Amino acid sequence: MKVGIPKELKNNENRVAVTPAGALELTKLQHEVYIQRGAGAGSGFPDEAYEKAGAILLPDTESVYNIAEMIVKVKEPIAEEYNLIRKDQLLFTYFHFASSEDLTRAMLKSGSVCLAYETVEASDRSLPLLIPMSEVAGRMSIQEGAKYLERPAGGKGILLGGVAGVKPANVLVLGGGVVGTQAAKMAAGLGANVSIMDINLNRLRYLEDIMPANVDTVMSSEYNIRELIGNIDLVIGGVLIPGGKAPSLITRDMLRLMKPGTVMVDVAIDQGGCFETSRPTTHQDPVFMVDDIVHYCVTNMPGAVPFTSTLALTNATLPYVLMLANLGWKEACRRNEALGKGLNIINGTIVYKEVAEAWKLDY
Ligand code: NAD
Repeated sequence: MKVGIPKELKNNENRVAVTPAGALELTKLQHEVYIQRGAGAGSGFPDEAYEKAGAILLPDTESVYNIAEMIVKVKEPIAEEYNLIRKDQLLFTYFHFASSEDLTRAMLKSGSVCLAYETVEASDRSLPLLIPMSEVAGRMSIQEGAKYLERPAGGKGILLGGVAGVKPANVLVLGGGVVGTQAAKMAAGLGANVSIMDINLNRLRYLEDIMPANVDTVMSSEYNIRELIGNIDLVIGGVLIPGGKAPSLITRDMLRLMKPGTVMVDVAIDQGGCFETSRPTTHQDPVFMVDDIVHYCVTNMPGAVPFTSTLALTNATLPYVLMLANLGWKEACRRNEALGKGLNIINGTIVYKEVAEAWKLDY
């Protein structure tokens, strides 16, 4: 199959959909890999590394779209790519159709086949192509939180791990899923006192088993949050209600219970956020203050660490890319149910219920 990897065009997107290691796996199987010059540079992969893996370098986005039967990307196509996509072309990338009507309509019009990373779903309902980004964001949340706890950054001026003779900081992690688990591990590793909350008792049992001694598990409730919050230095929001808006677990009035300079990192901001006072921010301008509490609400945290995020993402996507290249999308999706759930649009028809419902379109 002819596999095309364009350079990501979205502002500040430095990830790339296939690494030289992935390109080598594809070329070993006699697939043709076409990659746009410079596509891997932002993630630390020079053009020469792709050439060595047998890939063919193309000068621009247009030539990649023109030749490829399958386009593998990271982010959804942007408006200037819409007209490059043609009937029957397979696109494998994050789409998030339910958040863009323009994109949905453009892909319907193109007649292409859209397989969305975010809806590839395993039989246990986990989302294997979202997990790696949650792992990155969870770990990063503590790094960012630690930075903004520094006084010049607006925080209280407290070191997460303390030092000999001085107490460490107290960290509260809301949600014990992928983000929360990684955040708790990182904070604990730095020596902080960590409390992790979830509403799923089985999850709390599991966390109690695997976490180090400086992590307490606590049942999530408004009462327990109010009890703890006055003594917390860093709050991480990592809750998820599948398919729904995140609940506001920290309400505006609770900010008054906290000490000035407390830092709140709302990782769940991409689902609306789990603090009432959250609003989306960017890497250029990541934080704002409400009642002397620092809010960090960046919606695409993994974008700041493309060297790590590209590898984390492609480790998860490559097996599917190989399956699609070897079998074609019809047979690959028939044999692999998880991959089949990724189908959102086929040749002008929406095949994913939630996408059709989002824009009141036929399904
Ligand atoms: P997950 O499903 O693995 O975990 C969510 C956890 O929240 C579950 O264990 C669930 O039981 C728990 N939960 C639900 N309601 C709760 C409540 N009231 N109190 C406490 N816990 C509750 O999800 P995840 O992969 O960890 O993702 C968490 C959020 O982070 C999602 O919204 C995801 O989209 C987001 N995310 C954001 C970024 C970013 O860059 N900002 C990156 C990756 C993921």
